[in-house]
Amino acid sequence: MSTDKKKLVVVTGAGGFIGGSLVARLRARGHERIRAVDVKPFEGWYQKFDGVENLILDLNLKQNCEATARGAFDIYNLAANMGGMGFIENNKALCMLSVLINTHMLQAALEQKVERFFYSSSACVYNADKQKSFEAPSLKEEDAYPAMAEDGYGWEKLFSERMCRHFREDFGLYTRMARFHNVYGPWGTWDGGREKAPAAICRKVIEAKLAGKHEIEIWGSGEQTRSFMYIDDCLKGIGLIMSSAILEPINLGSSEAVTINQLVDLAEEFAGIKLRRKYDLNAPKGVNGRNSDNALIKKLLNWEPDTSLRRGLEQTYRWIYDQYVAREKGRAAAMR
Ligand code: NAD
Repeated sequence: MSTDKKKLVVVTGAGGFIGGSLVARLRARGHERIRAVDVKPFEGWYQKFDGVENLILDLNLKQNCEATARGAFDIYNLAANMGGMGFIENNKALCMLSVLINTHMLQAALEQKVERFFYSSSACVYNADKQKSFEAPSLKEEDAYPAMAEDGYGWEKLFSERMCRHFREDFGLYTRMARFHNVYGPWGTWDGGREKAPAAICRKVIEAKLAGKHEIEIWGSGEQTRSFMYIDDCLKGIGLIMSSAILEPINLGSSEAVTINQLVDLAEEFAGIKLRRKYDLNAPKGVNGRNSDNALIKKLLNWEPDTSLRRGLEQTYRWIYDQYVAREKGRAAAMR
């Protein structure tokens, strides 16, 4: 993130997990002018900072995107309607409506002569046929085509990637795109229906531990494979990709594949308990296997996300534990 520290940097989706963490990182790196934008009321922002221009705006609307982009040097466009499998399988239209945010943000960036534009795409763009095996197939960038993306959410991401590319080719807008693979860490969604597997599993293990009910429900057979990227790696990758000459979408994910059962093993270890596992085979579970092939990022950036799942998940577990206990205390106090 080598932008002049006095130039205005905009982060959309800044009330969310990755956006909020990106604002924290930009501040820590000395950026003096940051505009943070999200549609949620401030109480719902995971992180909100003094000295930042915090705005509540609905970026589905073009005029709000213009206000967001005004005077910006860099834009990190992270706003989207998203969540874990439970959310994206049941909210396909809502996920596709993020195309309004991405279209209007690109138009606004062009009109406002923004210098650089970053787009957060997803591993959900990959062709479903290439993810049928439980053996964690490593997905290369070219595996997005022929296109058969995740219904709803994945198709929107793929379309918006292409729009970024055409804005660059046709209009000369500097766009960069990363395909995030499952990001997790503190300050992420851990409850309420939009949480993803690592946070959901940590919360369920914590719930079981504190309630003394040593049982856990797992979505699917538990044999599905995934890789999970720690937030610090994600932020580092965003910075490297934004400043790079990489024009096409590139994987930004860990290549350490695990099964969902192994994820549960780790959370149990942190909690110091063993749980009886109940598998809900009818629950949304996504593709059978998915891993990030990191050959390209290693070649082009000489780096790949490298925080071990054990280290990152332990930090995340401890953070969710504290949030959970604080929430329960608050609820108990409100009942009194
Ligand atoms: P998040 O849900 O925590 O943050 C997204 C934010 O966008 C939310 O705070 C939401 O309120 C905001 N938003 C939604 N609609 C908006 C609108 N109309 N106007 C303004 N703000 C709006 O999600 P996240 O995990 O921080 O994800 C950030 C980006 O990264 C998203 O584009 C997401 O699709 C992408 N991504 C995330 C992951 C992951 O594992 N977390 C994986 C792949 C891609």
